[in-house]
Amino acid sequence: MTRSISNIVKEIEPSATLSLKEEVNSLEKEYGLKIIDLTAGQPDTGPTEDVLKALLDGGRLYKYGPVQGDSELREILSGVIDEEIGVRYNPQDIAVTVGAKGGIDILMRVLLNPGEAVGIMTPFWVTYPESVKIAQGIPCCLEPDEKLRPDVETLWREAEAKNIKVLLYSSPCNPSGVVYIKEELEEIAKLAKEKDIWVICDEIYGKFVFDGRKHESILSIEGMRDNAILVDGPSKRFGVPGWRVGYLAGPPEVVKAFTKLQGHINSGASRPAQYAMRVAYTSEKAKEATEDMRERYQRNRDVFVKAMNDIDGISCINPEGAFYAFPSIEGFYGCKYEFGGKEYSIGDSVGFRNFLLRKAQVAGVEGTPFGMNGYIRFSLATKEEDCANALANIEHAIRGLH
Ligand code: PMP
Repeated sequence: MTRSISNIVKEIEPSATLSLKEEVNSLEKEYGLKIIDLTAGQPDTGPTEDVLKALLDGGRLYKYGPVQGDSELREILSGVIDEEIGVRYNPQDIAVTVGAKGGIDILMRVLLNPGEAVGIMTPFWVTYPESVKIAQGIPCCLEPDEKLRPDVETLWREAEAKNIKVLLYSSPCNPSGVVYIKEELEEIAKLAKEKDIWVICDEIYGKFVFDGRKHESILSIEGMRDNAILVDGPSKRFGVPGWRVGYLAGPPEVVKAFTKLQGHINSGASRPAQYAMRVAYTSEKAKEATEDMRERYQRNRDVFVKAMNDIDGISCINPEGAFYAFPSIEGFYGCKYEFGGKEYSIGDSVGFRNFLLRKAQVAGVEGTPFGMNGYIRFSLATKEEDCANALANIEHAIRGLH
């Protein structure tokens, strides 16, 4: 066998959002449409001026740095984790990563042997199953209850049936906006302890929690520091996803193994960006900007989710955090519409997504890559007027379905 690419790569799904971008571009070009883009998995605003300036100053750090991350930043992150979660990590047990995504990828390779199973709480961020496959593990989707919350019975049953080694979730959840409460985390912790399962808790949306709720971490539960690894980063809270910095905190043996691999995979995160993060995580201005984002996302959530639930055929759980709405659209399966002289029938979530693109000029991401056909995800990290216009267009397009 010559000149072939690996079987692993062939099994990886391409990013749904990227292929969607192509569809949006071609519709805009071919039909002269202006599409309101609610697909973005990132804030619509950038960092504060002091953080931007720090990135430029950080340019002086042009040499390779410590693979585990600059010690000054890890020191600061140790304080941030303590303040926000109430758990004190030695800076030695923290690694700076190339985005939270880079952390999850390498972590999978650290924890998994080929063929070992990872339980993924569904719905999930699109990259989770693919990162498991890259590490030659087997992703097992753990179905939620009808409110898209963790289903304890399913967890126990599947953990036993599939011999799950690692459990992975995001809370606040991308895409559902569900924020795990203490009791749910305690159930997960009980399972993890009893079955000796690693838990990866992705808390990247932790600063975006609504209605006065508190962001709870499984790490604050007695004994979970031995089993759990925190994944987080500045991409969302400071609006810097393009700077590619994240971090993780976990048991010493995991962080050591992680650093060993990271040394060969990417030599560590960008040093100017790490320097800027020292400022971001200690800046009052940046803190206020994050709070402004949170308030705006909550206002958008209030308007958007209420309007969604007022539409016949749509039902949307109330997101408690993050910046997405994830309504169920199964009620429209079988409905028909005309576009460009052709008749279309909506048969699945991709069909509904295409209907909205063509007839409402609104782009959302279909539920399938999040593990739930029958749903669509809209990003609410956008201007209030875009939300309002998108809603008016969606309502109007749905009235035209037959
Ligand atoms: N986890 C979740 C749940 C996310 O939604 C995202 C980004 N969309 C990430 C991790 C990755 O973030 P980063 O930019 O830090 O790689």
